[in-house]
Amino acid sequence: MNEEYINFLQKIEEQVKMEKYLSPKEIKKYYKQFPKRKYISYNADIPFSLETLLNFYREYNIDYYKIIMDGLSRGRIVISNDLKDSYVNINSNKAYISPHQSSYDYFLFAHELSHYIDRNLTPHIIDDHYTIFAEVFPRAIENAYVNYLQNISPAYTSLIDVTQNNRLYFARRHLESALYEYYYEKLYLKGKLNEKKFDSQIVSRLMKRNVPNVVDYHLRYFFGEVFSSYLKEHPEIPLDSNLGIILSNLDLSSSYECFEEDNHHKVKVKNL
Ligand SMILES: [Zn+2]
Repeated sequence: MNEEYINFLQKIEEQVKMEKYLSPKEIKKYYKQFPKRKYISYNADIPFSLETLLNFYREYNIDYYKIIMDGLSRGRIVISNDLKDSYVNINSNKAYISPHQSSYDYFLFAHELSHYIDRNLTPHIIDDHYTIFAEVFPRAIENAYVNYLQNISPAYTSLIDVTQNNRLYFARRHLESALYEYYYEKLYLKGKLNEKKFDSQIVSRLMKRNVPNVVDYHLRYFFGEVFSSYLKEHPEIPLDSNLGIILSNLDLSSSYECFEEDNHHKVKVKNL
């Protein structure tokens, strides 16, 4: 048997026992409604300026700014072209950023640095108990950053539009991955999972990061989009350590309406 298949089978055995945040039926419902977008590529027309991003953080929240400056000076924020991926390690709480060398870096850095801030605040904004909402805080910060950039110059408009377009593209793809995971788990439970059903491209999407709960991991990006739209509509909700509990008590379908309202128009954008 193929080694990849054996590893996947082991993962599925472990995953079927896990509790998931949404059922396949619920995911399917949102997947069908979710805005469909095509990925648009970025180029380097607007060279990334870390200084602009730091100015934003300084204005937005001086404590966040200090956390970033401390992380940069102590080497806890590693920026390197040799890295394969960008992420924040949830054990060391160090950030690793692999620049894209395109205008997307404006949002890549804003996103990863927001995860870094969250993980280096005591208490965290998104407590370990609510990792399903881990993408909400960075997305909410990105929305504030969008406002900041819009106020600086109209030159950022198409970068902002392309970024939002691509966020929707990826969030829908993550919903699709959650459905594929459920599909394989169902086959397994029925005793019908075999090597013929194994699609290595899809499985590599599911196994990409060795995450403990595959369905919930992919759902994070959906919740990131939906609840960051909700928070845009509800600026009275503070982004503090109560956020997880507040989000867990929200009604998902009415929050989804906020998100739909926020994203119903398709932006016409040319490649950056
Ligand atoms: Zn993230």
